[in-house]
Amino acid sequence: MVQVAPVTPEYEAVPYWWDGVELPRPAPSPLPEAVDVAVVGGGYTGLAAALEISRGGRHVVVLDRDDIVSGASSRNGGMAHPGGKHPVSDFLRMPDGRHLWDETVEAFEGVDALAPELGIDFDWQRCGHIELAHHPRVAAAQRAVADAYTSIGEGARVLTVADLRSEIGSGRFFGGLLVERSAGLHPAKLAAGLARAAAGAGAALHGATTVLGLQRRGQGFELETSRGALRSDEVVVATNGTTDGRLLRWLGRRILPVGSYMIATETLEPDVAASVNPHARMFFDTRNFLHYWRLSPDRSRVLFGGRTSLAPTTVERSRDLLHSAMVAIHPQLAGVRVDRAWGGQVALTADRFPHVGRHPGSGVVYAMGYCGSGVALSIHFGRAVGRWLCGSGSLPAFAGRPWPALPWPAQVPSLLAVAGVGFRIRDALGR
Ligand SMILES: Cc1cc2nc3c(=O)[nH]c(=O)nc-3n(C[C@H](O)[C@H](O)[C@H](O)COP(=O)(O)OP(=O)(O)OC[C@H]3O[C@@H](n4cnc5c(N)ncnc54)[C@H](O)[C@@H]3O)c2cc1C
Repeated sequence: MVQVAPVTPEYEAVPYWWDGVELPRPAPSPLPEAVDVAVVGGGYTGLAAALEISRGGRHVVVLDRDDIVSGASSRNGGMAHPGGKHPVSDFLRMPDGRHLWDETVEAFEGVDALAPELGIDFDWQRCGHIELAHHPRVAAAQRAVADAYTSIGEGARVLTVADLRSEIGSGRFFGGLLVERSAGLHPAKLAAGLARAAAGAGAALHGATTVLGLQRRGQGFELETSRGALRSDEVVVATNGTTDGRLLRWLGRRILPVGSYMIATETLEPDVAASVNPHARMFFDTRNFLHYWRLSPDRSRVLFGGRTSLAPTTVERSRDLLHSAMVAIHPQLAGVRVDRAWGGQVALTADRFPHVGRHPGSGVVYAMGYCGSGVALSIHFGRAVGRWLCGSGSLPAFAGRPWPALPWPAQVPSLLAVAGVGFRIRDALGR
C-alpha cells in the first residue's frame, strides 16, 4: 500500500512551471480558408516549425486542441542533454551513429543559442547530469559508456559510491555516470518564449482547435477541424505523446503514448535542498521505470518525476508513488509536503529513436517519438522541418530511418499493464 503524500494547504494538481509564467492565450480568431502550411500541435516541435516557416515568408497556422503549449512542452522536467534514450555507446555501434549523435549535440547547443537569438530567458543552467546506477550490474556497465563518451571528446566520468557522497544526499545508488555538457531549464518559460517568437514572426496560433481529419486534395490537403475546414499546401503533424491514430493510422501504430508525472515539494530550507543535490545537477536513475529529479531553478524545491505505469493512471496515485520513491531515495525529505503534482504525455517508439520525415502514403510531414527526451530534439526537429519546407535546409540526419511499428501487444491497452510488470522485473535484475 502506498501512503497518501502529505500536501500543503496551497496544493494544486497543476504544473509547478506554470506559476508566474504568462503562457500564450491568443484570443479566438476565425480560421483562414487556406494557408501554405498547417501545423497540428502547439508544443516545441510545432512552434519551432512555425517560427521557421514564418521567417521563410510562408503563411502558417498552428492548431492545438488545447491551449497552445499546454502539453508536455510546458510540463517537462526541463532537463536538456545530448543523445536520447540510447546510451552513446549504442549510437557509436551503429553505421551512421556518430552522425546521429553529433546531431543531438547540435540540438542541445541550439537550445543554448536560443536565449540570445530570441531574446528570452528560460533559466538555462549548464550543470551536468548524473545517471545513477540502481543496480551493481548497471554500475559495472557504466565504465564502457564513459569510455564511449571520452572517445568522442565528450566530458563524462564514472562516479564511485565514494564519489557520489559529494554529489547526492542519498546512499541508494551503486555508482553513477556524470555527463558534463547537460543543462537545466525552465520548460514553460521556454515554451512561452517560443510561442511569442513564432507569433511575432507571423504565425497564427489557434488553441481549442482539434484537427479531426486530414484528406489529400489535389496537390494539398483539406483539414477537418472542430472549428471548420481549412486547406493547406503542407501539413506538419507535431503531436508527439498525444498522437491520435485516427488522424493517421500509420502514426498511431508507431507511437505509444505514456504518462509521465512530476511533483514539486514545498519550499525547503536551503541546507536541506543543498543536502539533496549540492551542485544542482540533473539526476536520472537507470531503471526502465525511471525516476528523474532536480532542484527548481532557484534551488528552493525538489522537482521529482517518473513514469509510474505504462497503463493509464491518475495524477493523485502518481503523486503518492513519486513522494514515496523520493523519500526512499532521500530520507531527509521525510515529512516534506507536496505543493504541486502534474502529468503529461510522452511518446515511446519501438526502436526508442525519434522519427521525422514525410509519410509517403499521405504526404504528411511528421516529427515525434522523443521517448521522454525531447526538449532539445523537438525544437531542433521543428526548426529543421520548417526550414526544409521553405527550401532553405535539409531534414535532420534522423530522417528516412526505417520506423518499425510497435509490437502488437503494445497496441492493445489491456496488455500494457502486463508489459509494465515485465519492465519492473528487468529493473529488479538490473537489465
Ligand atoms: C512530465 C514530463 C517530463 C518530461 N521531462 C523531460 C525532460 O526533463 N527532458 C526532456 O528532454 N524531455 C522531457 N519530456 C519530454 C518533452 O517534454 C517532449 O519530448 C516535448 O515537449 C515534445 O514536444 P512536442 O511539441 O513534440 O509535443 P507536445 O508538447 O506534447 O505538443 C503536442 C500538442 O499536440 C496537440 N494535439 C494532439 N492531437 C491534436 C489534434 N488532433 N489536433 C490539434 N492538436 C493536437 C496536443 O494538445 C499538444 O499540445 C518530458 C515530458 C513529460 C510529460
